[in-house]
Amino acid sequence: MTDEKLTQEQADEKLINDAFQELLDRYLESKHRKKVEIITKAFNFARQAHKGVRRRSGEPYILHPIAVARIACVEIGLGSTSICSALLHDVVEDTDYTVEDIENLFGPKIAQIVDGLTKISGGIFGDRASAQAENFKKLLLTMNDDIRVILIKIADRLHNMRTLGSMLPSKQYKIAGETLYIYAPLANRLGLNRIKTELEDLSFKYEHPETYKEIQSKLQATQAERESVFAEFTAPIREQLDKMGIPYRIIARIKSPYSIWNKMQAKHITFEEIYDILAVRIIFSPRNEEEELNDCFNIYVAISRIYKPHPDRLRDWVSHPKANGYQALHVTLMSNKGQWIEVQIRSERMNDVAEQGFAAHWKYKAGGGSEDEGELSKWLKTIKEILDDPQPDALDFLDTIKLNLFASEIFVFTPKGEIKTMPQNCTALDFAFSIHTFLGSHCIGAKVNHKLVPLSHKLQSGDQVEILTSKSQKVQPSWINYATTAKAKAKIQAILKRENKEQQQKGEEILVQFFQELGLPSSDENIRKLCEKRQVKTYDELTLRLGQGAITLDETDKNELKEKPTPTNWKKYISFAFGGNKQKQQENKNTSQQKLNIDKKEVLKLTPDAIQKNYILADCCKPIPGDDVLGYIDDNNRIVIHKRQCPIASQLKTSFGNRLIAVQWQTGKALVFPVNIYLKGLDEIGVLNKLTEVISQQLNVNIHKLIIESDEGIFESRIQLYVHDVDDVNTICNNLKKIENIKKVTRIESFDDPAE
Ligand code: MN
Repeated sequence: MTDEKLTQEQADEKLINDAFQELLDRYLESKHRKKVEIITKAFNFARQAHKGVRRRSGEPYILHPIAVARIACVEIGLGSTSICSALLHDVVEDTDYTVEDIENLFGPKIAQIVDGLTKISGGIFGDRASAQAENFKKLLLTMNDDIRVILIKIADRLHNMRTLGSMLPSKQYKIAGETLYIYAPLANRLGLNRIKTELEDLSFKYEHPETYKEIQSKLQATQAERESVFAEFTAPIREQLDKMGIPYRIIARIKSPYSIWNKMQAKHITFEEIYDILAVRIIFSPRNEEEELNDCFNIYVAISRIYKPHPDRLRDWVSHPKANGYQALHVTLMSNKGQWIEVQIRSERMNDVAEQGFAAHWKYKAGGGSEDEGELSKWLKTIKEILDDPQPDALDFLDTIKLNLFASEIFVFTPKGEIKTMPQNCTALDFAFSIHTFLGSHCIGAKVNHKLVPLSHKLQSGDQVEILTSKSQKVQPSWINYATTAKAKAKIQAILKRENKEQQQKGEEILVQFFQELGLPSSDENIRKLCEKRQVKTYDELTLRLGQGAITLDETDKNELKEKPTPTNWKKYISFAFGGNKQKQQENKNTSQQKLNIDKKEVLKLTPDAIQKNYILADCCKPIPGDDVLGYIDDNNRIVIHKRQCPIASQLKTSFGNRLIAVQWQTGKALVFPVNIYLKGLDEIGVLNKLTEVISQQLNVNIHKLIIESDEGIFESRIQLYVHDVDDVNTICNNLKKIENIKKVTRIESFDDPAE
């Protein structure tokens, strides 16, 4: 062994020991029982298991499990069982040790958690679309066993996101996309607010590096101004709170770059137009536990004597916590400078819950047990019910679950005054299914606040809802269109599917009889011919339509079957025979994909020539040079370019991560692309003239389409023109903004997109 190698080894040793010592120190600071011995044992075991292995970044592998354990301990507030499981989380996956080995050494609990983590490893999603949804299902099922599995999985993902820089760009999109699609909502649902925000910000940073930097620097530039607003606004509040004698601290909450960007996108506004970048948080220690809620409201009353509160913006999550456990009182006050500022009032306990989620609940429980999960276990129960209903398509299932992850909540009342938490935008039908499947499947209408409404009626917070039923009512296929909750959708689909089954059976009997009469076998070939003749896609559809009586087999069908198969038919037969199995089809496609000569390690250059010949610019988001984009290899081996924030691309990122490639614009000024611009302003004489003058004369761009609508002195306009790239669009927008009386100029995706 050379000296140099020895030093490298020694340096590694020191790095590892320091990292572990730091983990132990932080653990000892926590309120958990001090089980240093088993943690040290888990560390030593994992260390020798991963010995000699390095991460892509070059650092010793064991630093990753240590970092994950540290997140579980410090940032989620978990105890020794979770810390050990985090230290061991990659051992079964990456080394020869088995779950049994872990069980023998560390007992059944840790082994069970490590097993859960191993089952869902490799990203929530494997390489194939259906397998991805399957894995997600697995993940949710393990959540039911032990919520710590998912908490550690989130810690694992957080560390991977923090170290994403050393991955291939094409991998980065997959991981960042998955994180935004699944992990951030999951973290949010579990109340891990700070982690959710960091996951979103990291995804954003990798998908839109330029925009991220730009927002960061704008935040920096406006920092001093916010500080002075904060100091001035909070001074009288402090004075008042001092008088009340409640111990407190006041902090400034700055909106994260991702939420700022999200708002800019959603509302088509500029950074400067976002008014709520700064919010004020009052965190107090109640004098005793019983006074906690009273103190919240007392503080609210006290500060609304200083500043006028906004009448519509009091949010009381103190009396009715959010489903993820969040508790606080939000109020928006008018500052002396005429600016609305949101103030969030919470106790120290509520603050811990807001940042650490359910793990913090356990901290405040005497035994440190996990009994009091209230809303969380209710949610897990809903998920379990959805899992119990077989879903026709795994990807549908993923979307169904996502509905539940994203939902924010409203409160509605039963006729007896019982309060129910429902997702925002839910309908009377959703409400019926949330109470009971029978109620849902037999409902004919509803009374909301004693007024008769259809089932599709959207509920508002505070509504009192009575469901009207009829025994003869049956689930209607159209209901799927106005069910919005995962539970209602899943139930409706399951019931419809069950009913279809009965009719399909009837159809099958008809088919069997038909073949018997003809004296022909009911072979795949013959069934394929019938399907083709009757223009239905699958065997299931054929039997369903037969059962329903929508199709009646006759002489022409018999004649069709008596013909000899031709070679072209033969080819179709093959594809039909396999067509029923979606997964199989997918696999076949993937194998052919691998033969394609695309080096995913390279960043593909989007030259003018390539764009015209080999690439497709996605129709959904219409990217132009300068937009942050990625490439997706479609079923026909073509490369489709999407904007990275395109909703379709988000789906692709999670579902077909291995088909993504990194691409880079290199068009120069050779090609032109259509873009749409939206304008709004005061309708003064001559505005239109100035508008066209700026565009066609000053900027020398051709207008392709233009509409102007004017209403009560306000005009709105949409313009389609051809540009080379995003720089052109920005120049045009900036010049248009300079025209007097034009108040708003923004790029929109499609010509008829609503801009607000
Ligand atoms: Mn890991």
